[in-house]
Amino acid sequence: MGSSADSHRRSLWSATAGEAPLDAAPLAGEARIDLAVIGGGITGCTAALTAAEAGASVILLEGRTIGWGASGRNGGQVIPGLKYDPSEMRAKYGEEAGRRLTAAAGAAAGTVFDRIAKHAIACDAKREGWIQAAHAAPALARVHQRAQDWEAEGAPVERLDAAGVARLTGARGYVGGWIDRRAGTLQPLAYTRGLARAAREAGAALHETTPVERLEPDGGGWRIATPGGTVHARRVIVGTDAYSTPLVPGFTEAMLLVQSVQIATEPLPERILARLLPEGRCCSETRRLAFYFRRSPDGRLLFGGRGAIGDAENPVFRRALVAAMHRIFPDTAGVPVAASWSGQVGLTLDGLPRVQEPAPNLHLGYGYNGRGVAMATVMGGWLARKALHGEAPPLPATPLNPIRWHRLRRPALSAGIAWAWLRDRVGLAG
Ligand SMILES: Cc1cc2nc3c(=O)[nH]c(=O)nc-3n(C[C@H](O)[C@H](O)[C@H](O)COP(=O)(O)OP(=O)(O)OC[C@H]3O[C@@H](n4cnc5c(N)ncnc54)[C@H](O)[C@@H]3O)c2cc1C
Repeated sequence: MGSSADSHRRSLWSATAGEAPLDAAPLAGEARIDLAVIGGGITGCTAALTAAEAGASVILLEGRTIGWGASGRNGGQVIPGLKYDPSEMRAKYGEEAGRRLTAAAGAAAGTVFDRIAKHAIACDAKREGWIQAAHAAPALARVHQRAQDWEAEGAPVERLDAAGVARLTGARGYVGGWIDRRAGTLQPLAYTRGLARAAREAGAALHETTPVERLEPDGGGWRIATPGGTVHARRVIVGTDAYSTPLVPGFTEAMLLVQSVQIATEPLPERILARLLPEGRCCSETRRLAFYFRRSPDGRLLFGGRGAIGDAENPVFRRALVAAMHRIFPDTAGVPVAASWSGQVGLTLDGLPRVQEPAPNLHLGYGYNGRGVAMATVMGGWLARKALHGEAPPLPATPLNPIRWHRLRRPALSAGIAWAWLRDRVGLAG
């Protein structure tokens, strides 16, 4: 255990990415450009790719290496949709805007798999579906309603009873759930690198080890200062999500950050694999302290859940995660855990991502609430089209407002997570 920031080196993905590192040189000297993208995760790489495909001159600046943030260390579950179901989106945004947003969010996983096919990204992509497993009867009623809502939109979904979830996952303790066949899995670091490679092939210039230190208005555009050089850009997209630094006033207070921790077992023997997620689907559950799990391409169980607040990893959460894995998958009890790592997830109070333009030609997209693989891919496209052509995304733009009492919420969130883990241990999880 140690620093969450550094734990990307311990991730299974760093050791197994089919797409090579980009080895992009740091920025040196001055550049003038149509569009600068800050952040080399899924949001930034998709934005750079979309803009370069549209013929814009693009520079992408990444403080570390491409995929170093959440994009290269997540669970690789490609899940469509937002926190709100189609009927809720229509109620919240009105009939027409709600339908547009439903269509975009529902197509999000397809957008990912289309990108993978178009750019031949070697990221072990599989489109076998996602199961949301319900831990209790009220949660089951909610997810069955969700399935019905998406079914009415023509989505390939199915409601599952307890026996169905047990058969498809091999997991213990769920009372039912639903399966969404639009979803799937991928190797997230390879996916992010593949998007960056495609952006470079489309003409974008990539610079790694190039942390942006200052962002200042410059005529109608922006001046971007980095240790080795300066970029003058007509437009800027910031895709730094939970790894944001204070470049834009109020931005780092617009999200609450929480660690998500993952463990990976040693490869499992065939007798266990025959029962454990046998068709290679991914799964997450309905508890507030939700666990998520899938198989890796080389036959390990990947199991994730909530961790600490801040950068320091807490061994107590890792041990609790191992215990939860053994409870839900008793077959794994004797199997060693081979790797564990963590990353930051950016939460918004209403669970929805944000699209914002806090100053002219400065575009932000963030706040995926742990569901960014598909949504950040969609967001990158939205941001590029908004920045270049003024096209309004289906998610209405909001003002950049820091979360009230931001600093005070941290200890409250921390206590809430510890309490939820405690309840989980005594079998009371809600
Ligand atoms: C452990 C974990 C598991 C997850 N599992 C899933 C999952 O299974 N499915 C799912 O859909 N979502 C999952 N998520 C969420 C998902 O990974 C994120 O929502 C998504 O990757 C966000 O992408 P992004 O490009 O916006 O940000 P990031 O990938 O975090 O990229 C931001 C980048 O910006 C760079 N940066 C920051 N500041 C600067 C600066 N000043 N100058 C230059 N560069 C800068 C950082 O170095 C970083 O590389 C998970 C997240 C975590 C942490």
